[in-house]
Amino acid sequence: MTRRRKPTVRVAHRPDGWVLPDFTDLADCTTNFHREQDGRPACTGTAVWKVVEDHGMHLTIGFYCDADLPAEHRPQDAA
Ligand SMILES: [Zn+2]
Repeated sequence: MTRRRKPTVRVAHRPDGWVLPDFTDLADCTTNFHREQDGRPACTGTAVWKVVEDHGMHLTIGFYCDADLPAEHRPQDAA
């Protein structure tokens, strides 16, 4: 029986938003990618949450405004 390892998830919060690695701008909400596909207007919220999932072989990084942060990534001890 093979057990799939769950990715290690690190969630960090910055009230002012996250600057992109090239320092050109603040990160946009990652949901904009799906919003564009669905024809919905882009998120205008500040992406204050950074979610890094470590899958072992690669990392996935997502940025979310407070409203769009997936519930499973919301820190349990958040006020
Ligand atoms: Zn958003």
